[in-house]
Amino acid sequence: MDYGLTDQQNEIVKLAYQVAREKIRPVRERYDQSEEFPWPVVEELRQADLFGVYLPEKYGGMGGGTLDLCLVVEQLSRACAGIALCVAGSGLGTMPILLFGNEAQRQKWLPGLASGKLIGAFAITEAEAGSDATAMKTTAKLEGDHYVLNGSKCFISGGEVAQTYVVFATTNPARGARGIAAFVVEKGTPGFTFGKKEHKMGIRANPTYELLFRDCRVPKENLLYKEGYGLFVAQSTFDMSRPGVASQALGIAQGALDETLAYVRVRKQFGQTVASLQAISHMLADCATSIEASRALLYATGKAMDAAVKPAIDAAMAGGTIVFDEINRIKIRRYTKESAMCKVLCSDTAMKVAVDCVQMCGGVGYMRDFHVEKFMRDAKITQIYEGTNQIQRNEIAAMLIKETASSQRA
Ligand SMILES: Cc1cc2nc3c(=O)[nH]c(=O)nc-3n(C[C@H](O)[C@H](O)[C@H](O)COP(=O)(O)OP(=O)(O)OC[C@H]3O[C@@H](n4cnc5c(N)ncnc54)[C@H](O)[C@@H]3O)c2cc1C
Repeated sequence: MDYGLTDQQNEIVKLAYQVAREKIRPVRERYDQSEEFPWPVVEELRQADLFGVYLPEKYGGMGGGTLDLCLVVEQLSRACAGIALCVAGSGLGTMPILLFGNEAQRQKWLPGLASGKLIGAFAITEAEAGSDATAMKTTAKLEGDHYVLNGSKCFISGGEVAQTYVVFATTNPARGARGIAAFVVEKGTPGFTFGKKEHKMGIRANPTYELLFRDCRVPKENLLYKEGYGLFVAQSTFDMSRPGVASQALGIAQGALDETLAYVRVRKQFGQTVASLQAISHMLADCATSIEASRALLYATGKAMDAAVKPAIDAAMAGGTIVFDEINRIKIRRYTKESAMCKVLCSDTAMKVAVDCVQMCGGVGYMRDFHVEKFMRDAKITQIYEGTNQIQRNEIAAMLIKETASSQRA
């Protein structure tokens, strides 16, 4: 299907798929089994310049937008969603700096994040604050020129390997959701250490860690935007990053179908190929249809969101202002609903397609060395992180009700 991608976007797709085929496919099983971080592959991704496709050229990026990042993540996930998370997870840890950072903060961190020299991470979840992030207990107290952080975060992707962590903490517990702030905490800051490494069902090439903060002194210039705006930082970031999870899911679904098609068109039972059995051919058709419908929503959302947000980014780059302020000044509407829809549709598609692919391949599909079972294990997380699909549905429904109420008032 022709989605009207630009020449640069078509090139990005080609390049990312080439890296996926030649550099990721041959090693994905090794990293899935060892749960090691794939540094040599990260080096290939850096060489291919795939970390900063969505970042402004001013900081060494390619000047694209959310859709460009999605195209990279989709193609990499066709081979391995865990390795693709090296790029997607760093993107999640970079978006808040792009959207809420001032010029000095952007200059300090974005060039390294754009080149992949720095890897970013995003830390909001705590043991008692998952879907309800406002229940977080990590505190940040201003003492002179530093905020002193105390508390812990759990399930943090890219933990230990990332260099910059956008960490959410409350500066004023009495203010609840309005007391939260976001900080960039660099690896190596005294008082910032790593706790438990999780052992996971899928995306095992990407480490998931507990972060520990004990009297961790963070320079006050590392505060992103203002105290009390942490939840805005998180929500605005998710509006732009959830399509990234959707693209990871889409790549998983496509990868599972690619492998399955290659197998069922040659596997013979009852004197005919398995693909020619009507029961199997209908499953293939349903998988392909769901994937294309998911892709259509994702690309349309990415394009619309990028067209809307680009003037704000351009204005902030030119004037040295903050992108979030420009978004408000230009009165750009939020894409919360569409972004949540992308995540729900693509991740539910990935889960169903991957399960169906295992079924179509029979016993072989269940075996580790055949990889289709890996797509099934990797698919599950896309329904859980960056807000579970239940939370996405809550948000979609809340927006629908709000839109209906305001259209009836008009
Ligand atoms: C592999 C992995 C990587 C992760 N990476 C990161 C990361 O990099 N950074 C980060 O900050 N976090 C990360 N997370 C955390 C992730 O975002 C949370 O796990 C997720 O938001 C759900 O929170 P929870 O696990 O506490 O589940 P809970 O909030 O305890 O939810 C349990 C169940 O209740 C449902 N539920 C809860 N509230 C509602 C509601 N109001 N309405 C309907 N259903 C509801 C949920 O959908 C879920 O099914 C990661 C998690 C995993 C597993």
